Amino acid sequence: MNHLTRALAVLYALASAGLLRCALISEQNGATGYGLFFVGCTVLFGLAVAHHAWHRRQLHAANARLERAARPPGPHPAALADRFALAWHELETTCCLTGWSSHGEQHDPNHCTLKDHHT
Ligand SMILES: [Zn+2]
Repeated sequence: MNHLTRALAVLYALASAGLLRCALISEQNGATGYGLFFVGCTVLFGLAVAHHAWHRRQLHAANARLERAARPPGPHPAALADRFALAWHELETTCCLTGWSSHGEQHDPNHCTLKDHHT
């Protein structure tokens, strides 16, 4: 909800309270027709406030759908960066490339820094 629609909702509520007061004064002075007219206007402003709230929810849902549709497919960039960082860390701390690619099942006897352990 931007500032204008928020201000309008507040103004509608204030105008509604004013119209209700007019309806009361009209009724007290025997002008029942005007009283009913002001009550009708009060209901109209109440509907306007409710319509604003409904419209705001619709707009919010549409924004969420657009944002979801505009997002590139696949994992979130931050999650992808985390996965890359973990993969690089795993590669940098591996004993040898063969050990890294085989998840520790095999080791390159010429380059493995842990070759004493895997003889
Ligand atoms: Zn190794």
